[in-house]
Amino acid sequence: MPSPIAGLHHVTAIASDPQTNLDFYTEVLGLRSVKRTVNFDDPGTYHFYFGDDVGSPGTILTFFPWPGAARGHAGAGEVARTAFSVPAASLEYWHQRLTDQGLLVERTGKRFDEQVLAFPDPDGMQIEIVAHADAGPANAPRFASVPPEHAIRGFFGVTLLEQNAAQTASILNIMGFQKIGEEGNRLRFSAPGRALGNHIDLLIDPNAKFGRSGAGSVHHIAFRAKDDAAQKEWRQEIAKHLDVTPVLDRTYFHSIYFREPGGVLFELATDPPGFTFDEPIESLGEELRIPQWLEPKRSFIEKRLPPVSLHKSLPPIELQTEAGATV
Ligand code: ZN
Repeated sequence: MPSPIAGLHHVTAIASDPQTNLDFYTEVLGLRSVKRTVNFDDPGTYHFYFGDDVGSPGTILTFFPWPGAARGHAGAGEVARTAFSVPAASLEYWHQRLTDQGLLVERTGKRFDEQVLAFPDPDGMQIEIVAHADAGPANAPRFASVPPEHAIRGFFGVTLLEQNAAQTASILNIMGFQKIGEEGNRLRFSAPGRALGNHIDLLIDPNAKFGRSGAGSVHHIAFRAKDDAAQKEWRQEIAKHLDVTPVLDRTYFHSIYFREPGGVLFELATDPPGFTFDEPIESLGEELRIPQWLEPKRSFIEKRLPPVSLHKSLPPIELQTEAGATV
């Protein structure tokens, strides 16, 4: 078998207003803008990447913001929830922070061993913050008003809404995800190890209608391939069961795509080369980056893109009194 798939690499969704999207993920959720580029298949559209301080695989949420895009309707064959991981002790912090922003935050109560906060982003995308004992250390974004101890670690996982479980479960099994739990109509599949984004939940509703893609919809989810060799082996394995695209060069990773039988578009993306491929870590995501083959069209592309500005916050510092006590 190829080198195991550790978990999610990134999640890609659709947004409407670019500035609103940029502000929400950097200033409210405290993620770092790790790349500002264009949709390689549609260079008149931005492609924003948010993540931890370096854009580690398993932390990356990406958006195609289409100004004026109509909202999607969630449905079967789609990602219903995208969940981030925080430590158990950060639950109250996040509840307060999100409520202070005027967001309608639902506490879903205990799910398996976790506490979950659910809320919509500005385009209605359903986000969860999962507080749990197994959250690892933070690679906290350097420009964020969230204290590093409460920083979002990366993905916990995603929930897929499906009409039935069997075929999706079988492809997840082939990819190395095993069913580890069941609660009501929710089935949990996990990859071995404890990488970020190693939980895929299937929410089963035989009567769920198919949705309509639009702002607030997840376009696809990408899993991690260790390198090009592992991706090649996985491609051969998956091609025995499903149609798979050839390898596509996405500059920051190499990708193959296939649609799982329930309807969700899956991608397998390589960990290398990563987001420091074309700019230094200190200023990741601050300027428009475009692939070499689009550089001759840069001025044309820049004119078509709406201007956006990135507001960088610094983490709150603890004030020391003269006596040395922390206030
Ligand atoms: Zn992708």
